[in-house]
Amino acid sequence: MSAVLIDGKALSARKREEIKKKCEIFEQEYGRKICLAVVLVGNDPASEVYVRNKIRGCEATDIRSLSFTLPQTASQNDVEQLICALSADESVDGILVQLPLPKGLDEDRILNLIPPEKDVDGFHPVNVGKLLLGKETIVACTPMGVMTMLRDNDISVAGKNAVVIGRSNIVGKPMAMLLLRDHATVTICHSRTKNLKEICKNADILVAAIGKPEFVTADMVKDGAVVIDVGINRVNGKLKGDVDFDSVKEKASYITPVPGGVGPMTITTLLENTYLCGVRRERAKS
Ligand code: NAD
Repeated sequence: MSAVLIDGKALSARKREEIKKKCEIFEQEYGRKICLAVVLVGNDPASEVYVRNKIRGCEATDIRSLSFTLPQTASQNDVEQLICALSADESVDGILVQLPLPKGLDEDRILNLIPPEKDVDGFHPVNVGKLLLGKETIVACTPMGVMTMLRDNDISVAGKNAVVIGRSNIVGKPMAMLLLRDHATVTICHSRTKNLKEICKNADILVAAIGKPEFVTADMVKDGAVVIDVGINRVNGKLKGDVDFDSVKEKASYITPVPGGVGPMTITTLLENTYLCGVRRERAKS
């Protein structure tokens, strides 16, 4: 058996068209564009690429973007002042601080300064708490993008055994909460999990968010499982996922490729989150 490929690139292109239309309607209704402010501190090359791609995503979906670059030497106070100004700016719907921040800056303090209603990354404790409580909120982009991919392929998670490998705050934990919210029976695995292979073999839906190239091999996968590969690892200049794609695709029913799977959906979900923040802020006024 060879798995159906879940094409994140194609889905992302379709979703961007939808977001663009929604943003145009927003502008007609409220007389202004949805606006995302992106803050980059320092000159980490990978972060610069991510920020550029996010701004390009805004351009493609009719979202106004504001880009702020602070020097590597920026103080905690410099960054906090900028976040406070953007928080107070009525025309800004979403604030994104590109991570990681240079050493010496207090990341938690900075992220917690972003008002929850402008927290397009879904990292604020209030939004994380709402996710845990099953309330309407803004959810971290990567796991939310995975849920969109499952839904788009008519993959129901209710009652299924879902296994998430990885427990980071930005991927593993919110991923598990979203699967639970949609009624899966969820197991979270991590670096200290015993019998990982046996647990994975029981998964109808297996999500790998580990950061180790080709870690998940065919012997860890149940026949017919849906396998989602969140990993992005650079090996000899090539991108590799956390899943050994060639062997696992022969066992899985659905699989995401790397590149072209979860990655493209992450930025598209950021754009969707920005739209949602704009709409909810406007509705809260009336
Ligand atoms: P992280 O380093 O914060 O977390 C990795 C997790 O893997 C940890 O919880 C750890 O316990 C677990 N782990 C490590 N070794 C393990 C082992 N031997 N067995 C079981 N579990 C183990 O990483 P992250 O930020 O969650 O990212 C995970 C991967 O996803 C990385 O490759 C990252 O580049 C990628 N990523 C991709 C996107 C995207 O848009 N596609 C977004 C974010 C992260």
